[in-house]
Amino acid sequence: MTSILNADLHCHSVVSDGTLTPEALAERAHRNGVELWSLTDHDEVGGQHRAAAAAKALGMKYLTGTEISITFIGKTVHIVGLGFDADDPELVAGLRQTRGGRYERAVEMAEGLARVGIAGALEGALQFAGNPELVSRTHFARFLVESGVCKETNEVFRKYLTEGKPGFVPHRWASLKDAVGWIHRAGGIAVIAHPARYGFSANEEYALFSEFIAHGGRGVEVITGSHSAAECITYAQAATEYGLAASRGSDFHSPDESHTELGTLPYLPGHLTPVWELLAERVV
Ligand code: AMP
Ligand code: MN
Ligand code: MN
Ligand code: MN
Repeated sequence: MTSILNADLHCHSVVSDGTLTPEALAERAHRNGVELWSLTDHDEVGGQHRAAAAAKALGMKYLTGTEISITFIGKTVHIVGLGFDADDPELVAGLRQTRGGRYERAVEMAEGLARVGIAGALEGALQFAGNPELVSRTHFARFLVESGVCKETNEVFRKYLTEGKPGFVPHRWASLKDAVGWIHRAGGIAVIAHPARYGFSANEEYALFSEFIAHGGRGVEVITGSHSAAECITYAQAATEYGLAASRGSDFHSPDESHTELGTLPYLPGHLTPVWELLAERVV
């Protein structure tokens, strides 16, 4: 498989913080011309069998996926896993443990919002959560939009859900070493998600990339809905410099919220090694 492939290896369903079912996403991806697809729900593999079956029924190639939340030097970073065994016991247990603190965090978030006059946010957010184990800031954002506090989810994040704001609660996720190890030992490859999103200094970014590689990480997202055109070029260069394979994914969450549609990104630059070249045997 070459780099000229409409691969979309990053998106979310109702199993995490997306608004579509795995089946509806598969259909949408197929309709948009996606040739190789992966559903990468946050800290969850609960949608993997449904996604693979839906892709198969449509004649679309599939790789298993997830997006693991980790804490690295005090900040939240996302590691995408691709092409693993979705029933691997260590991975499944690791993800369950990672999801574990989310409910308590949501209770504290709601307390913070109540202190600035926004009542009922926990119940409100839970109504939007398709998976009770996976209450996300996104579900709080949807509640605050629906109840008229803000116009759109971006505004909610800016005013209420980011560091220093009333609904933000610092949280300790998995470690980089554990996340990469779980994916790797389940037969998959680990990929740094949307590296431009973290606001790291050059030194911090060097630490992330070099520790990631030391733990066995193999790829980085270069073409993603979360990157500007300039950032795509920056991380194409980083992929070459660090000897990492390159991934491509929209990070699609919802027809109403996402700027980037499934399967509509530019192709990977031809000189990079696509992650799917390392995963040829894992494609179903
Ligand atoms: P959580 O894992 O609960 O901390 O939620 C993180 C999720 O919030 C991300 O995966 C995005 O889907 C969403 N998110 C983060 N920042 C923003 C933003 N500025 N605007 C809209 N959604 C965001
Ligand atoms: Mn999300
Ligand atoms: Mn992410
Ligand atoms: Mn994502």
